[in-house]
Amino acid sequence: MQTSPINPHPVRNDERPPRLAIVVPCYKETEALPASLPRLLEVLDELACEGLASAESFLLCVDDGSPDATWQTILAAACNDSRVRGLALAHNAGHQYALLAGLMEVREQCEAAVSIDADLQDDPRAIIDMVRAFRAGAEIVYGVRRSRATDTWFKRNSARAFYKLQRSMGLESIYDHADYRLMSARALQELSRFREQNLFLRGIVPLIGLSTSIVYYDRAERVAGESKYPFAKMLSFSVDGITSFSARPLRWIFFTGLTLLGVDLLVGLYVLISILRGHTVWGWSSLMLSVWFLGSLILMAVGVVGEYIGKIFTEVKARPRYIVRERTVK
Ligand code: UDP
Ligand code: MG
Repeated sequence: MQTSPINPHPVRNDERPPRLAIVVPCYKETEALPASLPRLLEVLDELACEGLASAESFLLCVDDGSPDATWQTILAAACNDSRVRGLALAHNAGHQYALLAGLMEVREQCEAAVSIDADLQDDPRAIIDMVRAFRAGAEIVYGVRRSRATDTWFKRNSARAFYKLQRSMGLESIYDHADYRLMSARALQELSRFREQNLFLRGIVPLIGLSTSIVYYDRAERVAGESKYPFAKMLSFSVDGITSFSARPLRWIFFTGLTLLGVDLLVGLYVLISILRGHTVWGWSSLMLSVWFLGSLILMAVGVVGEYIGKIFTEVKARPRYIVRERTVK
């Protein structure tokens, strides 16, 4: 693994190893947790042995309202090892909110927190390099996949296209970075000030703008269980990622309309010449085509506007983003 700083940052001078929290969002992970928790605890052991993190570092598993025995699995792990803590949400709030709930829970109990998925597709050993980068002064350390070899052709290419689209819309996102990252307590404090309902952490974290670093790692297959991100959910997450950060699609609609107005003038001219030349009967096909074309454009435009109105609707209600049912450590 290699690290590379993005912004220059002052080196942290504290001698005392920092207390680290690892936040794991879990939804129906009864199969994955028994395999992944011991590996995360091993990383904590290694960090403590090398004096990189304090022995009081801990894991926080956030049960995102799983209908299965995920919470019982977390409770059992907490009984076996005092470094495992649990936080249960009252209902399935979604991955982003489960992650936020965990990060907000630990922000005053640690010096830095790492978020990682329960399936350990992201190499947990990269945490060691993340902590090194943190101790070297970074406030945010992004885990970036070195390659997408384990992805299907479709997932790899759709992800690439999506990053490009996001960039073209002015969104500052880190290429091939998901939600595997380290944030310092200070960065978490700043994150807590972002109050939006439509949460897309990958877009928000770069907006915090403190000193950052990147750690590269290899992504593996899930340790057990199956993905909770089917294609439809991934697509809607991608749309959220754009419409929560950029109003450019709205402007595009306006410019498409403007361009079509120009085309319309040309068509008008053509129609006028046809009338003058007495060729007005034919043209059924072009009429049909334009009616369908314009109809779909108008519907699409209304859809995009509707997407933003929907966002305003959820934002103004300002409902709580997640509700905590119980926690193992008060
Ligand atoms: N997850 C969650 N709530 C959900 C869906 C998923 O907390 O509603 C968690 C899940 O347990 C896992 C992480 O989010 O730890 C990523 O999910 P998954 O591995 O299924 O997604 P993929 O890696 O396939 O995109
Ligand atoms: Mg996964």
